Amino acid sequence: MTPIQGVPPGASHAVVRRRRPVVAVWWLAFWLAVVGNLPLWQRVDALGGALVQRLALLGGLGLLVAGATAALLSLLAWPRVFRPVVTLLVLVTAFNTHFMWQYGAVIDPGMLANVLHTDAREVRDLLSLPLLGTLLLVAGPPLWWLWRRPLSVRHWLPQTGRNGLGVVGGLLLAVLVTLLTYQDIASLMRNHKALRYMINPLNSVYAASSLAAEQLPQQVRTLQPVGGDAHLGGSYATQARPPLLVLVIGETARAQNWGLDGYARATTPALARWQAEGNLVNFPHVQSCGTNTQVSVPCIFSPLTRDQGGDKAAEHENLLDVLQRAGLAVLWLDNQSGCKGVCDRVTHVSTTDLALPGSCADGACFDDAMLKGLDERIAALDPQRRAQGVVVVLHQMGSHGPAYFKRTPDSHKPFLPECSSNTLSDCPPDQLVNAYDNTVAYTDRFLDQTLDWLKTRAARGSDDTGLIYVSDHGESLGENGLYLHGVPYAFAPQQQTHVPMVTWLSPGLQQRTGLGMDCLRARSGAALSHDNIFHSVLGLMDVSTQAYQLPLDALAPCAAAHARAAGIRPSPAG
Ligand SMILES: [Zn+2]
Repeated sequence: MTPIQGVPPGASHAVVRRRRPVVAVWWLAFWLAVVGNLPLWQRVDALGGALVQRLALLGGLGLLVAGATAALLSLLAWPRVFRPVVTLLVLVTAFNTHFMWQYGAVIDPGMLANVLHTDAREVRDLLSLPLLGTLLLVAGPPLWWLWRRPLSVRHWLPQTGRNGLGVVGGLLLAVLVTLLTYQDIASLMRNHKALRYMINPLNSVYAASSLAAEQLPQQVRTLQPVGGDAHLGGSYATQARPPLLVLVIGETARAQNWGLDGYARATTPALARWQAEGNLVNFPHVQSCGTNTQVSVPCIFSPLTRDQGGDKAAEHENLLDVLQRAGLAVLWLDNQSGCKGVCDRVTHVSTTDLALPGSCADGACFDDAMLKGLDERIAALDPQRRAQGVVVVLHQMGSHGPAYFKRTPDSHKPFLPECSSNTLSDCPPDQLVNAYDNTVAYTDRFLDQTLDWLKTRAARGSDDTGLIYVSDHGESLGENGLYLHGVPYAFAPQQQTHVPMVTWLSPGLQQRTGLGMDCLRARSGAALSHDNIFHSVLGLMDVSTQAYQLPLDALAPCAAAHARAAGIRPSPAG
C-alpha cells in the first residue's frame, strides 16, 4: 500500500479512537486483582470456613486489592508512561502467578533480589509449557486490550487532577472495604502472614521499592573494613607445613535428606566411610542464615550474626578479606551463579564455562570440574602467601533446582526412576525425591573426591589439610504444597533452613590446631548456625583479630592448645 499524502506511513487515516485513562485504570485494576491473583484466591479458599464467610472474605479482599491497584495505576496514568509500565506490571504478575502455582513461591524483597541475580542458565531451567500457558492466560487479554488503543491526551494540569482523584478513589475503596470486613481480613493476615507476599502485583512493587531503598544508601556508603588488625597466630612461626583448608559451600542441600543426619536412604555412603575412619565429624543441628543463595552466601562469610544483620551484610568486608589481610592465599572457585560479592577482592575463577570432557556439557559443569587442575591453580597463587597457608572455597551447583536431574551424570543416579521435568508438580512425589536424592548422593561423591585429594596432599607432606562443608539453605520438595526455597525466613519451613555440615581434619591439622576428634564428636550435637562459620574458620586457621569472637567458634572448645595459648580454659558454653 502506498502511503497517503500527508499521513505518516503506518498511521490509519481514520481518527484514532483513544481510551479514557480512568477506564483503562479500573478495567486493568480489576483484571489484575481477580485473574492476577488466582493462586491467592485458591489459598484463601482452601483455608475453609462457611461458604458465605469465605465468599465475603474473597469479595472483600478482591475489592481491597482492586482499590489499591487502581490507586497505583492512577499514579501512572500518563499517555507515554502508562502502557509500557503497565505492560511490565502485567507480565510480572503473570510470572508471579506461574511461580506461585508451580512452586508455592511468594514474592518478598529477598526473593526479588535472588531473581535479579539469576543467570541465563537458571532461567533456561525454569522455562516450560505451563509457564507459557500462564503468561497467555494472565497477561494475554489485558495486553491485547491495552495496546489496541492509546490513552486520550489532556493538558498536564487537568490530567494531574484526574490522576489525583483516581488515587484518592482507589484508596477510598480499599479503606472502605477494610473497615467493613476488618475483623475477617485482619485475622486472616495475622494468622497467615505469608499471604501478604502473594498479592500481585503489589508484592513486586513493594519488594522492588524496598530493595531500591536498601541499595541507594549502600552505593554512597563505603565498604566497612573488618579485622584491620588481622595477623597470623603463633602456630605459623614454627610450622613444618602450611595449612590448607577447603571450605565447600553447598547448594540447596537439606538436612532431612542427608544420610549422616539419619535419613532412611543411604545418600551419603562415602562420607559415612570417612566418618567411620574417625577424622570426619557430622554436625546434625545447623541452621542456615537465609532461605536463598543471595542472603545465605554473604551471611556465611559475614562477621555479623544473623541477629546483628548478617543477612544484610553486603557493605562489610568478610572472612576472605580477613584471611587475606592476615597473609594467607585465598582462592574461590565457582560452579554456580557467582559469589554474590563475597570473592570480589580475592582470586576467583568460574568453572561453569569450562569445556572439560566428562564434566561439562550444554554450558554447565558438574561440581567435580572444580577439582580438575586444582593443584595447578593453587601452585599459581602468590608464593609468599602460599608458603603461609591456603584457603580454597568451592561453591557448588549441588542440588540446585528445579532441574535436579541435570545436576547428576547418568552414571551416578542411584535412585531411579527420577523426575526429569522442571515442572515439579507434574512428577510423582517419589520420583521428585529420587531426583533430589541423586543430587545429594552426587555431593557425597564430590566431597569424597575432595577428601581423597586432601588426604593425598597431606600424605605427600605438602600441607596440613582440612575441610568444612556446609549448605547455604535447604529445599522444599512439595511439603505443604511448597517447592524450591526462598520463603521469607520468619515463615520458612525447617526443610528450607535446616542444613547439613561436616568437618574433616587430617592428623597433621589436628596436631597443629590441638583439635581433638573425640571432643568434636562429643560436642557435634550442639545447635549451630551459619553465624559460627566466620569465627570457626578464623580459629581453625589461627588468625588473630579483634573481629574474632571465641564464643561463636564452634571448634574452639575442643582446641586444647589454642585455649591454653589464649590463657582460657575450654568453655562448655562455646
Ligand atoms: Zn542457594
